Amino acid sequence: MIPGMFDYFAPSTLEEATRLLEQHGPDAKLLAGGHSLIPLMKLRLAAPRVLVDLNGVAGLAGIEERDGHLRIGAMTRHAQLEASELISDRYPLIADAAAVIADPLVRNRGTIGGSLAHADPAGDLASVMTALRAELVVVGPRRERTIPIDDFLVGLFTTALEPNEVLSEVRVPSPNGGSGGAYVKLERKVGDFATVAIAVQLTVRDGTCDEAGIALTSVGPTNLRARQAEDSLRGGSLDEQSLRAAADLAAQEAQPAADLRGSEEYKRDMVRVLTLRALRRALERATR
Ligand SMILES: Cc1cc2nc3c(=O)[nH]c(=O)nc-3n(C[C@H](O)[C@H](O)[C@H](O)COP(=O)(O)OP(=O)(O)OC[C@H]3O[C@@H](n4cnc5c(N)ncnc54)[C@H](O)[C@@H]3O)c2cc1C
Repeated sequence: MIPGMFDYFAPSTLEEATRLLEQHGPDAKLLAGGHSLIPLMKLRLAAPRVLVDLNGVAGLAGIEERDGHLRIGAMTRHAQLEASELISDRYPLIADAAAVIADPLVRNRGTIGGSLAHADPAGDLASVMTALRAELVVVGPRRERTIPIDDFLVGLFTTALEPNEVLSEVRVPSPNGGSGGAYVKLERKVGDFATVAIAVQLTVRDGTCDEAGIALTSVGPTNLRARQAEDSLRGGSLDEQSLRAAADLAAQEAQPAADLRGSEEYKRDMVRVLTLRALRRALERATR
């Protein structure tokens, strides 16, 4: 349970951080909250020779709404998302999820940037950001680029980040009326990773579904967008029958694997049940 030896750097600017990544190449790892990386290092599943600590880098944490987007700095802690009035008032999907990530200890240290960069398909925030159609701002030594969440999540523990890049900000389009979201999570006990969880964001205009975002946690090699379920809702009326049909489609789109948390069949059925619950809650919030 003791990690291997490593050199430790504590840059104070993003520029310095990306320069260190460039200098040390794949031997270097960024350290954010440490709640995924440090356990892996203790188990010797990861053995970076260099750690670049982002905790002293200025300007990487914060939550603000500007120019049509909610902007969340990568070093923003889960607990800050949970406590933000802006988020609970305008982005209930994020608030729902932040409150059920792990336990208060993990939420006090874990960051949104670390969660998305780690790309664990059981991570809650990647599904939330998929349903919200977020974009991620990524900074390298020579360029900055913006990556849609669908392109960022490449596979199991794999993202589109280059080894010399830092995820600096998450941008979520601001709701423009008639929007509501919900996150519904099934866990074996409080604080556990999801057996199954569902993120839903709906936008309703004149009684019709203008936009739908539906994403699935823990039932695939990465967090999955339920495209067919989304398509089935867009442009239609959100009656109980259409919500049920979308939940059935989401269950078909899931790619669960049997493990200690349940069989494939059980998880698929939970996707159906939880998608319906999340859709109902999101609709209620969008139309209240
Ligand atoms: C007991 C326990 C229970 C947990 N339960 C849940 C849960 O229910 N739901 C859930 O979603 N998560 C859960 N987690 C994970 C937790 O949310 C982590 O905090 C999160 O996944 C990683 O964030 P971090 O800031 O700790 O990242 P770190 O552990 O510091 O880093 C994780 C990875 O991301 C990279 N990285 C970090 N920041 C950046 C950045 N800005 N740019 C580029 N790369 C970066 C690191 O190099 C590393 O590879 C749990 C963790 C623990 C220990």
